[in-house]
Amino acid sequence: MSLAAVDPGSSPASLRDRFELVRGAFRSDVFPPYEVRVDRLKRLLAALMDRQHELADAIDADFGGRSRHETLIAETYVSVAALRFVLKNLRAWMRPEKRSTSLGLQPASARVVPQPLGVIGIVSPWNYPVQLAIVPLIYALAAGNRAIIKPSELTPRTGAKLRELLAAIFPEDLVSVVEGGADVGAAFCELPFDHLFYTGSTRVGRLVMQAAAKNLVPVTLELGGKSPAILHPDYPLDKAAESIASGKLLNAGQTCVAPDYLLVQRDRVDATVDALAKAAGTLYPRMADNPDYTSVVNAHHHRRLLGLVEDAVKRGARATVLNPANESFEGAGHKMAPVILRDVTEDMHVMQEEIFGPVLPIVAVGSVDEAVRYVVDHPRPLALYYFDRDQARIEQILQRTHSGGVTINECALHVAEEHLPFGGVGPSGMGAYHGKEGFDSMSHRKAVLQQSRMNTRFLTLPPYTERTQRIVDWLL
Ligand code: NAD
Repeated sequence: MSLAAVDPGSSPASLRDRFELVRGAFRSDVFPPYEVRVDRLKRLLAALMDRQHELADAIDADFGGRSRHETLIAETYVSVAALRFVLKNLRAWMRPEKRSTSLGLQPASARVVPQPLGVIGIVSPWNYPVQLAIVPLIYALAAGNRAIIKPSELTPRTGAKLRELLAAIFPEDLVSVVEGGADVGAAFCELPFDHLFYTGSTRVGRLVMQAAAKNLVPVTLELGGKSPAILHPDYPLDKAAESIASGKLLNAGQTCVAPDYLLVQRDRVDATVDALAKAAGTLYPRMADNPDYTSVVNAHHHRRLLGLVEDAVKRGARATVLNPANESFEGAGHKMAPVILRDVTEDMHVMQEEIFGPVLPIVAVGSVDEAVRYVVDHPRPLALYYFDRDQARIEQILQRTHSGGVTINECALHVAEEHLPFGGVGPSGMGAYHGKEGFDSMSHRKAVLQQSRMNTRFLTLPPYTERTQRIVDWLL
């Protein structure tokens, strides 16, 4: 099929055509050598560097105000750092891994050979619309695959810019972008990909896995959840507050690993609110009129977040609005002043769903032990943050709680460490990427046993004799 024959639309039939085109191309190029992969990655690196400001402008327009520096750090730098890391390690990752041969099979040899899977489907969300499409793509290409990306419809300018950028450096049968909303996403996930890589909400993650199951397509699900931060009373409050305020207010809280709520000793709740207010004011002395402070992405999410606060207050929560310069947010688009909530209870919506915005509830607890019980009683989150300097207690927390990842004495930074795998657990996701795990999850790790010239198998073949019995006795 020629490229011209592919309908650029995203109807199920044209999605299928596009998929067939990419799969056909993969079948004629099933094991791109190291040099080809490096060339592809370097082209991507150069394009991201060249077009960083175009991408930042597109994201800014999509959000109606996205801090340029946040984009340059959390989208461009993170993607470029991942590329550099992969380029540095790719040769080693591609090498077959020698394994030992067990006694009964000697002198055969055993190895694990990483092989490209084929065509990877990537579905990405809007909150970091470049990073969360590009980093999975980096690992897909490094592992020798081809990919089709379905970016979020909530950031359409960025989606179009990504399509343009990728079309300029890759043929459409190597990397392709299809645009559209939930209906296109649903049809996309019905395609018989060799692997489906989804980043988004837990609700849609379930639908994605159901669709993939029809074709037994393996999935990586990078989902969300309510990531807690636990503060030990011995840890300096100002320091914890700085980390939490910056982790929460980056991208106006629209970060999958943002601290969703805090667990704080009852007698320190008021001091924690004061410390957070101070830290937020230092980071953002103004908010409505400050290009560093990002907007909520659209009217729907703005209403949803205000609704969460309203519901909580109606049910007895105390809200503290952080507005250091006393600005009016009228006319500031969908920007929203951060809100801290005290006296929250389980019946409030804000304690039931992932917040994904600048609202921070504080759950008062009697002890760190009670905080741990609270975490364990709730769905396993994507991240957990613990502030403490006592190593024994840190180890206890790590053993007693489940979460996709953990940062100790900071927020969210484990995501930025490319040597570490990144992923969720249970309802916050399955599978992982970043680092070697990223390469492995996009590869088939094929088990190969190679018989030697000296084949000892005849020793265990029928007709069974006294000699066979002696060998069995020896093996057992
Ligand atoms: P979303 O689930 O609404 O959408 C994500 C993508 O799925 C979009 O491209 C959308 O078009 C597509 N989609 C929608 N319905 C679909 C369907 N039925 N089948 C297939 N695809 C469909 O998520 P969102 O609102 O864009 O992102 C926010 C969520 O993503 C939050 O829960 C956040 O925690 C999570 N998230 C997780 C990570 C992570 O790495 N674990 C990173 C960022 C965001």
